[in-house]
Amino acid sequence: MRKHEAITQGWFDAWWFLREYGVKTRDDIRPEAWAYDLGIEIVEADLDGASAQLIRLGDLVQIVLSERITESGARRFAIAHEIYHFLKKHPSLAATMLCKPKWVRSGAKEPCAYEIGSNAFGSAVLLPDFLLRKRCEVSPVSLDVPWQITKEYDVSILASARRFVELSSERCAAVFAKDGVVQWSTRSATFTRKIRDGRRLHRDSIAWDFHATGKLDERDQPVPARAWFGTTSNEDIIEHATCRPDYGTVLSLLWVPDAVGARVGMP
Ligand SMILES: [Zn+2]
Repeated sequence: MRKHEAITQGWFDAWWFLREYGVKTRDDIRPEAWAYDLGIEIVEADLDGASAQLIRLGDLVQIVLSERITESGARRFAIAHEIYHFLKKHPSLAATMLCKPKWVRSGAKEPCAYEIGSNAFGSAVLLPDFLLRKRCEVSPVSLDVPWQITKEYDVSILASARRFVELSSERCAAVFAKDGVVQWSTRSATFTRKIRDGRRLHRDSIAWDFHATGKLDERDQPVPARAWFGTTSNEDIIEHATCRPDYGTVLSLLWVPDAVGARVGMP
């Protein structure tokens, strides 16, 4: 299965799942209760390197969460992600399935379709399209709405920023970098330029400031478009970044306003 097919399938399954569980408002989004209803026990253990694990042994089904997951948003996401492995009966090499930290992907290895599908499902059940799409239709684009969603929906800023660009029709992208290198990016349908994984941050980007100095100006501000993608234009786009100094990571939300779209190659 290709990447975009796995994502589309995850979203489709999420739509049915939310319907099945009668989710109509934010308060109906309860991953732990869903797991309980499905007969899955949630336990915590020291998982070497992985963030969560699904165990299926006869009638016993467990989601094992790493003790290192201390943030409630990460915990909710891990549970929703594992629920999808369970529902889809994703094969694993052993009776258990080890899942790497959700948004960290090693540069060399392509993440497998099961992981991509589970992430798409997790994102779509915790941040439902029908509750959030209208809020994501804002201009100008900044991290303000993703931050609000993070607080209200109890998810990480990475999850809410990704979902925001998926649901927005503005030209925008969420880019996550660690130690000066792009780990992943997600683009809206109208942000048609690729930002390659493994790309080094450009000196003119705001994210690079964090990498170079450990400090970050967490305000939305203009940056040259060519700091982020290939273009001969000298136009500016907008970057709004936030960092986690303890992890050496920075998340940038990029926005190409209508006025410069065509001039930077995104008509
Ligand atoms: Zn997984």
